[in-house]
Amino acid sequence: MEKVEKKIQMVDLLSQYEKIQAEIDKAVLDVIHSTAFINGPDVKAFKTELEKYLGVKNVITCGNGTDALQIAMMALGLKPGDEVITADFTYVATAEVIALLGLTPVLVDVYPDTFEINIEAFEKAITPKTKAIVPVHLFGQCADMERIMQIAKKHNLFVIEDVAQAIGADYTFSDGKKQKAGTIGDVGCTSFFPSKNLGCYGDGGAMYTNNDELAAKMQMISNHGQRVQYYHDSIGVNSRLDSIQAAILRIKLRHLDEYAAARNVVANYYDKVFANHPKIKTPSRVKNSTHVFHQYTLQLNGIDRTKLREQLASRGIPAMIYYPVPLHLQKAYLDSRYKAGDFPVTEKLCATVISLPIHTEMDEATLKYICDNVLELLN
Ligand SMILES: *Cc1c(COP(=O)(O)O)cnc(C)c1O
Repeated sequence: MEKVEKKIQMVDLLSQYEKIQAEIDKAVLDVIHSTAFINGPDVKAFKTELEKYLGVKNVITCGNGTDALQIAMMALGLKPGDEVITADFTYVATAEVIALLGLTPVLVDVYPDTFEINIEAFEKAITPKTKAIVPVHLFGQCADMERIMQIAKKHNLFVIEDVAQAIGADYTFSDGKKQKAGTIGDVGCTSFFPSKNLGCYGDGGAMYTNNDELAAKMQMISNHGQRVQYYHDSIGVNSRLDSIQAAILRIKLRHLDEYAAARNVVANYYDKVFANHPKIKTPSRVKNSTHVFHQYTLQLNGIDRTKLREQLASRGIPAMIYYPVPLHLQKAYLDSRYKAGDFPVTEKLCATVISLPIHTEMDEATLKYICDNVLELLN
């Protein structure tokens, strides 16, 4: 097999930077020379540009995606004892903030083909104490938002979209109306962690909402609960996006659609190579959503995953397990309500998934090298 020159990585942030280096370097230096490190003009400009891109009335920036979820739940007035439903198959942050605020995380299983939250399971989990649902748009495509919104409306639930992995994805309703992921529910929460689809060069996050009153509350809570400086109306947090990160994000936002397209080229290539392989299941697409492929995740059938990962690593190919343990079996989240076997789909996924490198700078030679090796090792 032809050897690839460049080291293969899950995400190649250096090559991506090199293509926009002059612009980024200038923007970062401009912030340094302005000394407007906090709440500078780039933060306001980024907020406005992201609102326009998403077609949403309000974007409030904050320190990271986990804070975004926490601030959203605080602003919605959720109280200890309130139940919040979310998927068992997700990154821990989603459930962490629910628990941290003294709310009760109620976990439900996901669909085996798309990895998104199971709608029947969601509806069944609703009790009189349920106040909100957090659909996670896992790996880059939307959960079934049309049905989630219908059920939420019927039961008077808040919808907090965790859009950390799916910024830019489009959801189409059955009447043809299109909306960006994260702008459909009461609030969307995203992350600008470097490896996310719109990543900065440090930590960052944001909330989106069309509700002006909720936007004002989230703005206030993210800034120590003050509307006017030194007058504190509620208990808040200190969570902000700094100006250097905002300046970087302004530049990268202009490339976001092109980045999503590049990720789709990679995903389509993998799909084609691995289609109908008896030992691999390729990820299914959600019908009403575009996919921005934060991750490309295969399910293995009858393969020693640990051994495969070691063999791939020895050939210079990284592969990751997102996620190895279901939330309900994590030590910190063990709960007498749940036991092994309760969420069979998530449990099976955690045992069989493997994510291959996918990013904006992947060339065909690298893709071919990865695929040839995976196929050879599965034989
Ligand atoms: C990354 C991520 C978060 C948290 O974002 P941070 O910026 O790392 O705090 C939350 N939910 C999901 C699904 C994520 O992937």
